[in-house]
Amino acid sequence: MSIFNLFKRSDIECPRCLGKGFVEWEDIVRLNRQLKWVPAPCAYCNAVGRVPKEMLSKVTVDCMYLTIDLPESVIEKIKEGDQETIEKGKQRELFVDHLIQFAEHHYLTQNMDAESIANLYLSTEEESALFSVNKDELIKYIQGVIELKKSGQN
Ligand SMILES: [Zn+2]
Repeated sequence: MSIFNLFKRSDIECPRCLGKGFVEWEDIVRLNRQLKWVPAPCAYCNAVGRVPKEMLSKVTVDCMYLTIDLPESVIEKIKEGDQETIEKGKQRELFVDHLIQFAEHHYLTQNMDAESIANLYLSTEEESALFSVNKDELIKYIQGVIELKKSGQN
C-alpha cells in the first residue's frame, strides 16, 4: 500500500471486534460464529481495531474463512475481494455447515456420541478427504456441536 492510500482512506471502528483488536466469545456469539471461530486476534482489522470503510463492501464482517490463522497472503486476497479465494472460503463454510448438520442430526435422532458420529462421518462422507479431517480433531469438534445443542444456544 502506498503512503497516499494511508492518508486517503477513512478508517472506521472494526465491526467484527468493535475496536478491541481481539475477537472474544461475546463477539463470536453476536456474529453467530460459534463452532466456526475461537477467541483470537481479529483478522478483519488485523488486530488494530480499525478498518478502511471500503472494506465492508469487499468482505462481510462475519466471513467465516477470514481468521488470523490463515497465511498473510490469503488474508490479503480475501480483503482485496479476490473471487477465487472467496469461493474457496465459501466451500470451506459449506463443508463446516454440512458437518454441523450431520452431527446434530445423528445426535438428535439417534442420540449417538461424538466418536460414533465421527466414525460414521469418516466412513460415509467422501468430502472429508477434501479437507483432510483428522479423526481426533473431528471427535472434539463434534463434541462441541453436541455441547452447544445441549445448552440450547443454537
Ligand atoms: Zn477487528
